[in-house]
Amino acid sequence: MRRRWMSGLKKFCMAAIAILIIISAAFLYGERESGLPAVSAQPLLAPIAPNPENASPASMEKVVTASLTSMVLTASTARAASEKEGDKIVYLTFDDGPSKLTDQVLSILKQEEATATFFVLGEHAKQSPELIQRMTEAGHAIGNHTYNHEYSELYSSFPRFWDQIKQTEDVLREITGVRPAMVRAPGGTYGHFDKTYFKLLEQGGYKVFDWDVDSGDSKRRGVPATEIIKNATSEKLKDEMIVLLHDGTGHEESVKALPEIIKFYKKHGYTFRALSPEQEQVHFNLAAASKSKVKPAPSADWIESHVVPNSALFGPGEPLFVEAGGVETKLAAGEYELEDGQYMVPLRSTMVRLGAKVRWDEQNQSAVVVWGDATVVIEPFKETLVSEGADLTSPLTPARFSRKNDSLWISLRSLLEAAGHPIVSFDASQEERRVRAR
Ligand SMILES: [Zn+2]
Repeated sequence: MRRRWMSGLKKFCMAAIAILIIISAAFLYGERESGLPAVSAQPLLAPIAPNPENASPASMEKVVTASLTSMVLTASTARAASEKEGDKIVYLTFDDGPSKLTDQVLSILKQEEATATFFVLGEHAKQSPELIQRMTEAGHAIGNHTYNHEYSELYSSFPRFWDQIKQTEDVLREITGVRPAMVRAPGGTYGHFDKTYFKLLEQGGYKVFDWDVDSGDSKRRGVPATEIIKNATSEKLKDEMIVLLHDGTGHEESVKALPEIIKFYKKHGYTFRALSPEQEQVHFNLAAASKSKVKPAPSADWIESHVVPNSALFGPGEPLFVEAGGVETKLAAGEYELEDGQYMVPLRSTMVRLGAKVRWDEQNQSAVVVWGDATVVIEPFKETLVSEGADLTSPLTPARFSRKNDSLWISLRSLLEAAGHPIVSFDASQEERRVRAR
């Protein structure tokens, strides 16, 4: 009883201290914003401008002063991930890869039996799908770090940011079969995100992760390993810590520093885990400046057509397995719809995953699907579906065809039949739905 009371008191005191710190941080920052000199010798959360000499945009993380970041992480960082009290967890995170260095990072992690999280760039993932596969096979988590890391595009308006998230998601989905729900903003959210970014990403089903500990490995070009180790290990230790590192091009010193960083956290009793979209998101508070500097907000229509349906992709629900022509693919809960007893699927992604080639014929305004010996032409404006081999044209009624955003959705049965793969069986259980075709 007494112990419980004591622990309650302790929690209360800690909460009070945390609130005081947050209030004073906000106060100090507010002063700085209003043009008064900061009281602290060290500017509070002043993001250091990226080094213009640093040519690779991918390695240009804006650096947030490490010792102060923990103060402005959302106060709600009472993270639920640690199952039992006393568990100390460190989440090593690697941004900007994959690159030539990723292989070494994976080897070190394997040797040290440490699990980590990679926030990858879509354009790099596309170039090195084998590294993405290796990450997945080794049990590491993969997050979305946008497609090209270009601040000027990403932070000009939310739809631009969204497009890169979706583009990268498609690349990763193609490689691993899984859509990453975890997002890390290039340079961190601080000073980059406005309220809309936070709100719409959350609404779209994503979780945003900043960090607690900045290894400082992208502060400038060639930060020596000794400095990286020092930065990554000098933060006040908490039960859960997210450490920012980089495995993008030019980060050889981070690779050198990694074994020592791992050693340090092992010595202090930490276990190494991958971040999970199941846990609470962890991000910096909104920068005071972002509150006044509002970026152009997307229209209600845009949100309705892009963000609202997106969350279903990450929601619960049974997947649909489609077996056809000796290939099997899995559509997640949000990737198909059951309408009037018919499975409706997105034409392009479903067909590509079954091994077909899909192209848009601009001249005839039609989608052409080439699958094995069959060629199927979908003419959305004429509302017809032409099965070329069978020389068969059938009408596309609204029940068998629709448009969502920029993609064509079509009834799975119509599509499979037109391509010469008639359905032979349907199965549905609590865990999955399954369509078998010839
Ligand atoms: Zn980055």
